[in-house]
Amino acid sequence: MEDKFRKIIAKMQEADSIVIGASNGLSISEGIHIFADNAAFLENFGDFREKYGFRSIIQGCFYPFPSEAEKWAFFSRMYNYFLYKQEASSVMKNLYELVKDKNFFVVTSNIDDHFRQAGFPSDRLFEIEGNGRNLQCTIGCHDQIYPGDEILSEMVTKQVDGKIPADLIPTCPECGGPMQVHLEVDRNFLKGEAWQNSFQAYQDFIDNAHRKKIVILEFGVGARNQLIKAPLMNLTNQEEYATYITFNRGNELYIPDAITAKSIGIDGNIAEILERLVQMK
Ligand SMILES: [Zn+2]
Repeated sequence: MEDKFRKIIAKMQEADSIVIGASNGLSISEGIHIFADNAAFLENFGDFREKYGFRSIIQGCFYPFPSEAEKWAFFSRMYNYFLYKQEASSVMKNLYELVKDKNFFVVTSNIDDHFRQAGFPSDRLFEIEGNGRNLQCTIGCHDQIYPGDEILSEMVTKQVDGKIPADLIPTCPECGGPMQVHLEVDRNFLKGEAWQNSFQAYQDFIDNAHRKKIVILEFGVGARNQLIKAPLMNLTNQEEYATYITFNRGNELYIPDAITAKSIGIDGNIAEILERLVQMK
């Protein structure tokens, strides 16, 4: 393992560009598991579980709440759960420490906004499925994403019996209809100017890395993931000087034969691995 770590550090040192791809497994290494019916879910969302029967944060995101007051009780609770520690986790701090002096870009399906929280600048971040702190018009009547921190924080503290006060229910400034968190829960998810700009910035980064030394660091992306993993594996295959480094556990660690020679697979606890890599940097 130490040999592999030394090789990773060496590859990163000589890299022109570093692409970070991250999915659910990275959040899990921080202790946040949006698919799990675990102790943390019970502790933080147990009242919703009892009332509506959903069994995870992600099920809550897709739940058809009977009223806006109840819907926002859940989404503000989720916001609070993701970002209640003003400080980033040690996992995210270590990841930032590892790459902060490099030319990097992040592509992620994580919705917890933890990259920004750890200091990753927004213009180097493509959150494909949105995040839990921004709002949009529910039907997407106009292309604008609104920062939700202030109103979501107020909803958290003022919710009673699973409802927020009526005067805190946000409405669309254009059509007067309901708002929702900017997450890809249905086809109304806004992929307008803000999303397209992030997508384009990511494309430009990849284009600029062409024929140079590019290191791909992939954290906790499932073996069959098509959104992030498949494109990163293709990129590795196409780019002569690419190195594909994937961090995952057990069966989820997957490297196809075509790129084995350019790849390093690390099976283990991402939190501990990042700690070690930062020490070796
Ligand atoms: Zn609207």
